[in-house]
Formats: sequence, C-alpha cells, structure tokens
Amino acid sequence: MNAEIIAVGSELLLGQIVNTNAKFLSTSLAEMGVNVFHHTVVGDNPQRLKKTIEIAEKRADLIIFTGGLGPTKDDLTKETIANHLGKKLVTDQDALTSIEAYFHKVNRQMTENNKKQALVLEGATVLPNEFGMAPGMFIQNQNHFYMLLPGPPFEMEPMFSKYGRRAILKKMDKREHIESRVMRFFGIGEAQLETEIESIIVGQSNPTVAPYASDGECTLRITAKHESSAEALKMIEEMEKSIKERVGEFCYGYDETTLMAETVKTLKNAGLTIATAESLTAGMFAAEMASISGVSAILKGGVVCYSNEAKEKLVKVKKETLDKYGAVSKECAAELAENIRVILDSDIGISFTGVAGPDSLEGKEAGTIWIGISVKHHPVKTFLLSLASNRNSNRLRTVKYGCHYLMREIGLNSGN
Ligand code: ATP
Ligand code: MG
Repeated sequence: MNAEIIAVGSELLLGQIVNTNAKFLSTSLAEMGVNVFHHTVVGDNPQRLKKTIEIAEKRADLIIFTGGLGPTKDDLTKETIANHLGKKLVTDQDALTSIEAYFHKVNRQMTENNKKQALVLEGATVLPNEFGMAPGMFIQNQNHFYMLLPGPPFEMEPMFSKYGRRAILKKMDKREHIESRVMRFFGIGEAQLETEIESIIVGQSNPTVAPYASDGECTLRITAKHESSAEALKMIEEMEKSIKERVGEFCYGYDETTLMAETVKTLKNAGLTIATAESLTAGMFAAEMASISGVSAILKGGVVCYSNEAKEKLVKVKKETLDKYGAVSKECAAELAENIRVILDSDIGISFTGVAGPDSLEGKEAGTIWIGISVKHHPVKTFLLSLASNRNSNRLRTVKYGCHYLMREIGLNSGN
C-alpha cells in the first residue's frame, strides 16, 4: 500500500504553523510498512483541494487528510470530499451525543454549526475523537482509501494511534510481519556513519536501514519484514550486529531513549553521584538531568558560574588560573570539575566553560568549549570541542557531549 498525506490549512501555507502532522503520520506509516511517496499542503479552498485529491488519486492507494474538520466556515475538508466522491453527509449519532455531552459538561450553549461536526461521510467507519469534537473517518471508494483526521495534533495523534492505524492494517496484506528498531548514535557525523556502513546496507531491501540526523545525533532505523515476527526480529539483530562491528562505539541506545536518560542510567548502575559547574550552559546540563525521574539518587547539585567572579567565589577557581589561561581554558575546566566534586563531596564533577557565540571571547573563537570531568581517585580529564552552530545549538550540543564523555569515562573506569 502506498499513501499520500494531504494537510489542509491556509495557516500552513502562510508559515504560521509547521506541518508536524505529516511528520507524525509518516513515521507511523513507515512503521506499519506503508510507503509514503508524497506530502501535500493545500489551503482552505475547495477548488484547489479537489484538484489536489485528483492528483493524489493518480499516485496513492491511501489518502490521509488532516485539518478542516472543525465547525467554522473555513473548515471544508469533509464537504469537499463528500462532493468529490458523490457521497452524502449524515449525522453520526454517537458523535452528536458526545458533542452534546461536552457542551453540557462545560455548561455552554451548543450552536447550530457545532452539529455540523457530527456529520460524517455516508458509509464511513467513524474514528472517535477522545480529545475534541470532530470525529475522524475512514472510507473506501473504488480502489482508494480515504482517511480524514482533525488538524490539532493532540486530537489527531491519539485518534490515529488508537483507531486509524488499526483501520488501515485491516485492509493490508497481513501475511507479513514488520518489525523495526532504532539505533541511536552520538559522536559520529551522519556522513561518516553512512560511509562506514555503506557496504552492508547498499542494495539492501530486507531489512532496510534508514539513516536520519538531527541536533547533532544520528539514528539508523532497521526494518525487517517476514512471515514470522521472530524471524523478522532475528534479521534485525543480525543487521544490528554487523553495524555494531563497525560503529558500535558510537551507539548509545535504542528506540525512544535519549543521551541524558542513558547517562543517568549509567551513573545509577555504577552507583556514582555527580555535581556540576556550568558556565556557558548555565544550568542546562543539571536541568536536563533533573528531567529524568529518580535522579535524586545521583545528582547532588550544581552551580551556575557564568562570570569569573562566580567561578572564583563559588567554585574556588584560582585567580591565577583565570588571569593566566582565561575562563575558556583546559585549566579552568579542570579546576571547576575537580573543585565542584570536592565541594559537594560527589564521586564525579563535571564542568562546562566556553564561548557559546556569536562573538568571540578572550581571543577564542565562538564554539570553543572545554568540558572537565573529575572522577574520584582518578586524574581529572578535559575535552576540547570546536562547535560551529549558533549560540543555543552550541549550548545544547555541549550538554550532549557532556553525556557522551561522561558515559565513556565511567565505562573506562569500570573497565567496560
Ligand atoms: P478545529 O476543530 O480545531 O478547527 P480542524 O480539524 O478544523 O480543527 P484546522 O482548523 O485545520 O483543523 O486546524 C486547527 C489547528 O490544528 C491549527 O490552528 C493548528 O494549530 C493545528 N494544525 C492543523 N493542521 C496541522 C498540521 N498539519 N500540523 C500541525 N498542526 C496542525
Ligand atoms: Mg478548523
């Protein structure tokens, strides 16, 4: 089965909102083994929407619409499709009941146009909306399937995951099981990752390996199809093993995890506590760490030491160090990491000091960043980064590099 996603809404064309619905649906469809060959965006205009449907029908089996199911005049998706398919719109009693119940609950007067939201295409399977009023729809007409979903992501996503997905899978050839796994990488660029594994993925059609990169990280999604789900999983494992033989040292986790979640797990497993001294990241590392539940077992605390004064007064960095080497230096990073560990009596101290940009500092270029890591009973280590992104992205990446080096150091010190 192949699909086209049509997002309806003039606000998308005006650049007021981003088409995150297409991203969500594409990801979900890929996992289901449905190929998505086209994304289309069209404004709230019935003539242009009709033309868009005609084009999609020439190249897709399944056409998924999002947006324009609401009660207002500019919401025309359902009416345009009904007109195009020559189908009537009929009231769905369940939808009407739940809309009436909603108005009763919030103690507001229901208007005539709200009733319009309970209208569905005759013969369609209705997809309940558990987070809003407009129901979704799924309908077959000749050799095409049409799915209509509401625009707001918090309504559309649960509707698709709970009802839409199942409706599509029912129509698909289910002799095949599709399994997939995402491998997550950090510390290796997308181009290098692809080069390293090129010879094992080139010409591969089952399993497939799809690379993706964002925010300084890379992922590989391995997808395998087989009559037996156990066999599909075995195929994934074999592929994963050959990928790991080449770039395993950069793989930090699987599926929905994050670098910070893995870092916290690593610290917890090793039974190590940590303290932070953050200059350019100004608390971002500690804040992200604290977003993971159960972190109180390992995070002792931290200091935002943005100015030299704070570095001296709060983290006891020597004045001579700052005068001689500057704040953005190996020496300062080392002292910050070591001192914060001692001050807070933790097993590990980590520090970040650098030039976030866009301007240079102390004659050091933007993106010059030092990370210090002090592990109790071990000599302090420092790591130099030369990042080339904008200010905030440099700060975010610094946090990720902090996790990366930290996990490495813990691994080295525990003999892994
Ligand atoms: P409503 O009942 O809220 O009017 P609707 O189904 O008519 O829902 P729209 O009016 O097209 O949908 O869009 C409502 C809101 O949903 C938009 O203002 C926007 O915030 C969000 N939205 C719509 N389409 C998309 C999209 N493709 N990606 C992300 N968000 C979207
Ligand atoms: Mg609307």
